[in-house]
Amino acid sequence: MTTRLDDLPLRDDLRGMVPYGAPQAPLPVALNVNENTHPVPQEVADDILDSLARALRDVNRYPDREFTALRESFAEYLGHGLTADQIWAGNGSNEVLQHILQAFAGPGRTAFSFGPTYSMYPLLTRGVGARWIAGERGHDYVLSPESAVEQVTQARPDVVFLCSPNNPTGTPLSLDVISAVYDAVDAIVIVDEAYHEFAPREERSALTLLPGRERLVVSRTMSKAFAFAGARVGYLAADPAFVDALRLVRLPYHLSALTQAAALAALAHAPTMLAMVDEIVAQRDRISATVAALGYEPYESWTNFVLFGGVDDPDATWQALYDRGVLIRNLDIPHALRVTAGTEEETTAFLDALASVGSRA
Ligand SMILES: *Cc1c(COP(=O)(O)O)cnc(C)c1O
Repeated sequence: MTTRLDDLPLRDDLRGMVPYGAPQAPLPVALNVNENTHPVPQEVADDILDSLARALRDVNRYPDREFTALRESFAEYLGHGLTADQIWAGNGSNEVLQHILQAFAGPGRTAFSFGPTYSMYPLLTRGVGARWIAGERGHDYVLSPESAVEQVTQARPDVVFLCSPNNPTGTPLSLDVISAVYDAVDAIVIVDEAYHEFAPREERSALTLLPGRERLVVSRTMSKAFAFAGARVGYLAADPAFVDALRLVRLPYHLSALTQAAALAALAHAPTMLAMVDEIVAQRDRISATVAALGYEPYESWTNFVLFGGVDDPDATWQALYDRGVLIRNLDIPHALRVTAGTEEETTAFLDALASVGSRA
């Protein structure tokens, strides 16, 4: 007899939960998890390889637990006068978010965000034994300061997630909303800027709000704009005391010597790694214009993906695209699908396939 999950003495609060599960299907055109579909440029890959080779000579020893050189490098990349003692990093920003929840949420506490938003927030929250509270967005998924303040004042959460710009809708978030939410709560306020590099250049980051706000934290990732999803590197900026709190919950040596070496080498080439951002933004805008011409309703996006509505039967359209070798994302949003901006060829493949599926199949 095979053992089922229910046969094990699992924590009661984990019973019935479903793991994160974006399909990983080997299709020719994979535009479903907002990766950067451009590979790491060869000259950067060569430097990363050299850096890994050097790190391997010492791999019998534990790595620098404080990943000091990497924190200095992130501080320099972010600018805004940030210093290394304000930086933290982990194996993807998901781990960084988990560290925050381990330190500031946990049993008896709550975390909150405005849905629809990143599906990992509730999973990470429940994983640490805290309770998830879902708020709402307004028309076209936009969040106003008034509505945001009213909702957090009522929910009184311990941690608030603000995804800026928002996944899966692409929606920008104004700094007014962030400061208004911060002032309305005693909670930790996380601004997840995973897609910040795809926003218009002149837009200010929430990093500019950090001075004087010791409960505010801005998280970033190398997974999207930096084309580094497979390396698993995320990071954040906050008050040095906030970073001290995360040291209480991280596993010792959580960032391997190889991860640190690879990230450092890639960061030294930041402009080259980010060179594809403009091209991706151009493909994103081409997707929005073309799906609109096909009769769908794209939402404004400051990210590397587009959520489009007006899909009569998302399951059928998703499957029809899948059958044509194009993988996109079918979320729990009625009459909508999400597609990542690919290379020019991949984007063309998606747009041609969508056109061939027929009007709003
Ligand atoms: C992709 C994504 C992340 C990044 O996750 P990593 O663990 O760094 O790969 C974080 N937040 C949001 C909203 C995302 O879409």
